[in-house]
Amino acid sequence: MGSIGFIGLGIMGLPMCRNLLGAGHALVVYDVVPAAVAAAVESGAVAAGSSREVAARSDTVLTVLPNSPHVRAALLGPDGVAAGARPGSLVIDMSSIDPTVSHEVGAALAGAGLRFLDAPVSGGEPKAIDGTLAIMVGGAAGDFAEVRPLLECMGGSIVHCGDVGAGNVAKLANQIIVGLNLAAVAEALALVERAGVDPATVVEAIRGGAAGSAILEAKVPMILARDTRPGFRVDLHHKDLANALAAGRALGAPLPLTAQVLELFEAARAAGLGDADHSAIARVYEQLGGEAMGADD
Ligand code: NAD
Repeated sequence: MGSIGFIGLGIMGLPMCRNLLGAGHALVVYDVVPAAVAAAVESGAVAAGSSREVAARSDTVLTVLPNSPHVRAALLGPDGVAAGARPGSLVIDMSSIDPTVSHEVGAALAGAGLRFLDAPVSGGEPKAIDGTLAIMVGGAAGDFAEVRPLLECMGGSIVHCGDVGAGNVAKLANQIIVGLNLAAVAEALALVERAGVDPATVVEAIRGGAAGSAILEAKVPMILARDTRPGFRVDLHHKDLANALAAGRALGAPLPLTAQVLELFEAARAAGLGDADHSAIARVYEQLGGEAMGADD
């Protein structure tokens, strides 16, 4: 596989990095936060002082960064990957970003003689730790085939979705469906509470029918227990839906329900719930309706 660089050692990146180290790969790593680099070095990685240095010492570079501006900076900035990479190197961006930015970055890297895949992930920190992430990949089929063994160290489901940007299109589709499903569950529970019917009983009555879903199973217990520990944070889901709308505008695809649900996430952030689990949008319904949801406190 050659030498591997890894940039972005946060909640997702660090365990993904550890799984690559565990599979026997040598890694050169960088993060703007020195403590994150130190944690990876403790697990066996070698530290670099910049993204440029990572690229200069690697044939394949992986990035797991928060959003589009961070990806642009790490890949195309003055001290970025493109400034240091050897011609023909392969860059794999595993961040969840706007697919139109994946296109832009991919074209800029191609201009510098570099290859590019977008490969965002789904599954959260537990699956990052287990190495069972769902990985959605966009880019040339040959590049995908080349890095598939590397991705298998981090993922349980790895699907080539199409050309550059298709991975992030798949990820945005995932986030739209999860966000709208969550909003539907929160809205339905608000009605049930207002009607004075026991929500746990209603869920028991409907879970085996057409309204059943992974979100219903995973998030209703959290909503009813008023447990807002993340999980997947409101801020990240807000970011993904904002990216979906930006992509929709760029492509001419109207996303009316996504726009409405984004406003629920905006309201959750305004209420100080940005770091809470995304199921905390149920709290927004509580504020709208003045009705306590879950335990009496
Ligand atoms: P995080 O904020 O924990 O980690 C991001 C890391 O990138 C941080 O350590 C930060 O210091 C570093 N960073 C930022 N800018 C940088 C730069 N220019 N150069 C080098 N390092 C830089 O975020 P995360 O939770 O690991 O998420 C990463 C991506 O994965 C996001 O796009 C997110 O939407 C996606 N994702 C997250 C989850 C989840 O449950 N956390 C699940 C699926 C997908």
